Amino acid sequence: MLAGKNWILKTNFQGCAVCGSTWGNYWGEIEGERMFFCCKICHLELHNLVLKIKQSTGWEKIDELNIEGSYAGRNCLARAGEKSASFLVTFDSLGEVQTFNKLPK
Ligand SMILES: [Zn+2]
Repeated sequence: MLAGKNWILKTNFQGCAVCGSTWGNYWGEIEGERMFFCCKICHLELHNLVLKIKQSTGWEKIDELNIEGSYAGRNCLARAGEKSASFLVTFDSLGEVQTFNKLPK
């Protein structure tokens, strides 16, 4: 759907990039891409998550990010080229990353 650009963070949702909600109307930038979110908190969550993943993996960019789960715990599968990594993530009510555990492949 967003193919063909230099930097594309593909996500698995049609709605909000984090939680999948189709209500709300908040556009925020992640790594230079304007993306749809239901609210400011979800934008902050994804922003913080991308930073964490880059810190943890040492990747300069993330090509694809799939997020599944709920506020109780989200499984995130990130890819950069041939590389991939999975994490179990939770956020606090302000959008900060609370739990960030690398999962075995
Ligand atoms: Zn959301």
